[in-house]
Amino acid sequence: MRIDLHTHSCASDGSESPAAVVGSAAGAGLDVLALTDHDTTSGWAGAATAAQHHGIALVRGIEISSRHDGVSIHLLGYLQDPTAPGLLAELERCRESRETRAQRIVELLSRDLPLDWDDVLEHVEPGATIGRPHIAAALVAKHIVTSVNDAFASYLGNGSPYYAAHYAPDPVQAVRLLGEAGGVAVMAHPFAGRRGPIVDDSVIEAMAAAGMAGLEVHHPDHSGDEVRHGTDLAASLGLFVTGSSDYHGDRKTNRLGDRTTDPVVLQQIEDLASGVEVLRP
Ligand code: AMP
Ligand code: FE
Ligand code: FE
Ligand code: ZN
Repeated sequence: MRIDLHTHSCASDGSESPAAVVGSAAGAGLDVLALTDHDTTSGWAGAATAAQHHGIALVRGIEISSRHDGVSIHLLGYLQDPTAPGLLAELERCRESRETRAQRIVELLSRDLPLDWDDVLEHVEPGATIGRPHIAAALVAKHIVTSVNDAFASYLGNGSPYYAAHYAPDPVQAVRLLGEAGGVAVMAHPFAGRRGPIVDDSVIEAMAAAGMAGLEVHHPDHSGDEVRHGTDLAASLGLFVTGSSDYHGDRKTNRLGDRTTDPVVLQQIEDLASGVEVLRP
């Protein structure tokens, strides 16, 4: 059984519709797929219909943006009740702030580059959670950079003078809100230092103490050493480990099923969750 627990659609910063992500997953030979768009569950319905059609199991999930001491932490949530008020309010606040923050970044870029807000909107699905990959797509389309990677390496990185931050909850609070919604919390790419600063293990410990259940140890952005460290840390904190691709369609080189999760771990996630069920064909 092949299980990929971290993917994005155009409900956030992926390039494919939720239904197309599910179709691509079926085509890649996956048996179970989790859709985990940034700060939104608006892709769940389209993915669910497509999962039935393609005969593949769907884990409805999310990737919540949080921040600790200025360091971005992504928290995967699985099988939470999407209507839980505490979580819903926090996600709305985060998405709204992402909108003004993206406008701010584009305003800064527009002082030096031929890029305006309308150029970016061309790459954003209505209602989607907006992020830097949408700005990157506009920079590529306008031939200002040659690739999304190039955009992050030049204008959009965390250290760039054009960078601006958006509101994000504290990670311990995000873990609690997910728990209150009956969801299962797993820290995404905890050691991916090559994409930006990372938190030290004490923060991960605090998240575990607040109810976080797992670490996404197997991720394309992790080196061999990072995988070994994550495996040891998870064992010492009593956390399970997952593996996933973090697929974004053509906005990233990550391919579906690049990393996978053990079926025993999926069963643990199902046993812990009390929000919604895994949808099976
Ligand atoms: P944001 O959510 O706006 O802060 O942007 C972060 C998102 O950009 C992450 O979810 C990644 O999907 C994407 N990202 C970060 N670094 C890179 C990179 N070097 N190349 C492509 N995508 C990236
Ligand atoms: Fe993303
Ligand atoms: Fe992430
Ligand atoms: Zn992701």
